[in-house]
Amino acid sequence: MKTQLVYSDEFQKHDNITHPENAKRLVAMMQEIKKTSFFEKLEIIMPNLLDEESLYDVHSKNMIDKVKFANLKENSWLDPDTYVCKGDYNIARLAAGGLVELTENVINDKARNGFALVRPPGHHATIDRSMGFCLFNNIAIAANRALKNIKRVLIFDLDVHHGNGTQDIFYNRKEVMYQSFHLSPHYPGTGDPHEIGENEGSGFNVNTPLKYGNGDKAVAQLLDEIFLPIAKQFKPDIILVSCGYDSHHADMLGGLNLSVNFFGEIISRFQKIQPKIVCTLEGGYNLDWIGKCLLSQLSQLLLNPISIEDYVNEKKDVDYVLKIIKNEMNVYWKI
Ligand SMILES: [Zn+2]
Repeated sequence: MKTQLVYSDEFQKHDNITHPENAKRLVAMMQEIKKTSFFEKLEIIMPNLLDEESLYDVHSKNMIDKVKFANLKENSWLDPDTYVCKGDYNIARLAAGGLVELTENVINDKARNGFALVRPPGHHATIDRSMGFCLFNNIAIAANRALKNIKRVLIFDLDVHHGNGTQDIFYNRKEVMYQSFHLSPHYPGTGDPHEIGENEGSGFNVNTPLKYGNGDKAVAQLLDEIFLPIAKQFKPDIILVSCGYDSHHADMLGGLNLSVNFFGEIISRFQKIQPKIVCTLEGGYNLDWIGKCLLSQLSQLLLNPISIEDYVNEKKDVDYVLKIIKNEMNVYWKI
């Protein structure tokens, strides 16, 4: 079975050169991976438009209408961070549709695993609001669709920002577990460790905010002591990963100090729990590094990990958050 890569040049139509989340990101990433022998081993999948029913299953009509209205004009903004270009309703549906298709291929053993290299990103989009560069929540739509065929989905979010939208969408549900490390204080202000889910979803939302400068060692300890033990007990049928390369040390919108090889290492650790892994792009804005971060993860998905030279000084300051999250989670999980 192959590793699939979802990609389309259509995503370049969502572009604003004054904004960090612009079309140059995918150009830089594709250039980086095309230089390697890995590219030939990937099966490239052209995405299809997401059906509207799957969109309305996750987002409110009010929110979808706002995107539809904005996408009739040449350039508009839903908030000071989030732009919409003409025709973006379909581009955003293409991003979500690609991830949905890839997820179904992995569930149905048509692919071993895969990466959806899609834009606009999604993890800040809540049930009722597009925000933070995100129009629709691609990963939440894919997780929700996956539940038609499987019982449990784990979403792991390694973006430097908390995925408030993904948390919001599954906050009351036990079929989808959301796990995130993120910089705090930072945009969007959510992601406190006491936000553990509600009702049936209590214990299925795992947040570990990190202070400025934490890096590989801090996240490795969180993986060992929190994320992986809980994931193992949750027994996911598939793992979806929100890949935000803004947690790399050189990112201009970040503040965590992950090194490039650690992005692949994260995938490697989750593969031991569930090899069915589907990644999707969220943030990451340093054009010199995001392609290398992608390469690290793709090489691990292809079971042929590479090492890229990258060194950074890092802080390790996780004792406080570990204590809080262990207190919250040991009611639900053995940790
Ligand atoms: Zn981000």
